[in-house]
Amino acid sequence: MSNVVDCRYFYGDYHRGANLEKCRLLDASPNNTRPWRRKLCDSCPVPELLLTSTCLDLLLEAQVTKSLLRERVEVTFAVCASHLHELDDPHFCPECAAEQEKLRNGE
Ligand SMILES: [Zn+2]
Repeated sequence: MSNVVDCRYFYGDYHRGANLEKCRLLDASPNNTRPWRRKLCDSCPVPELLLTSTCLDLLLEAQVTKSLLRERVEVTFAVCASHLHELDDPHFCPECAAEQEKLRNGE
């Protein structure tokens, strides 16, 4: 039986006996060639990234890569949708970080 993944990109529909699950991130990523499987969520960096990134409005693309016979999800492209800025490191958005810093300082 499936268990729901705590990720904004995970989609599960179990109504009326349906058992539809998908990853909307990989679905929307044009460069991904390998199919998503539920198991990939277990090692996927994205839920943790969404929680820890300084960027409040992350837009991601990802693909399934294979190394050492193991498939995993890898983030291939990250954009801050607030500032329309491509991020080299999806964990860190300098502009969102600066805004949060200002808020913290009460400016
Ligand atoms: Zn940002």
